[in-house]
Amino acid sequence: MESMELDNTISYKCACNFEDSEGKTHIYDSSRISTNTFTKAELMSIHLSQLMLQHRIARATYRDIVQFINTVIQNYDDIMMEPGVKISHGETVDALLKSKSSVKGHEYDVCSSGCRLYGINDDQESCVDCGKPRYKTDPDQSQTPAASMKLMSVGDMLSQMLADPATRELLCYRANQESVAGQLTNIFDGDNYKQLVQQGLFSNPNDISIGFYTNGFVNQKKGKNSYTIIHCIIFNLDPSIR
Ligand SMILES: [Zn+2]
Repeated sequence: MESMELDNTISYKCACNFEDSEGKTHIYDSSRISTNTFTKAELMSIHLSQLMLQHRIARATYRDIVQFINTVIQNYDDIMMEPGVKISHGETVDALLKSKSSVKGHEYDVCSSGCRLYGINDDQESCVDCGKPRYKTDPDQSQTPAASMKLMSVGDMLSQMLADPATRELLCYRANQESVAGQLTNIFDGDNYKQLVQQGLFSNPNDISIGFYTNGFVNQKKGKNSYTIIHCIIFNLDPSIR
């Protein structure tokens, strides 16, 4: 632990007067307390306690952070085997996860009033609903969309679930369930699904049946914009985990 010095630039509170702005963590100015009174770990714990108070961190978060730090200390030898080891900041972690994830966002042009989304092969240059131009009006940016949005593909995510044996197993409910005549227990007992099967759909056990439900709402009392929530349910999963 030689290389882990305490940050000496941080001053610990040593006086005995509690101001409103101060936390309750104090090192009292007593002759019985010398520089050797606290162990390094105790001083670091006091330091952490001050940081938590200073930033008004919730108790539960504080507990999780302490647990995390103790895990790091317990695994110190293993962790230090990696060259240039350090804990990264949030932005670096976000970038790291993005680079490792195979789920990519797909970017589409949209109407700047939110009426519609342009498909990849759409060549309309204005919105059929409100007439607003699809691209920026500045001639230098004639191919730049006035607005765009990123979407994650449900198909990409389902493909990943099929690719992993553990999650593929979870998707077997549809193939394994058996309908009992006259009993309606779930969507697969319904006529609509049975008609699709008769048309030759869902013949492969790995075919996935999903349902979309939509509902419109406004987010303000007199909101001009209405929003639509889309619920996607994967019927291939057992009803208990759908
Ligand atoms: Zn529009």
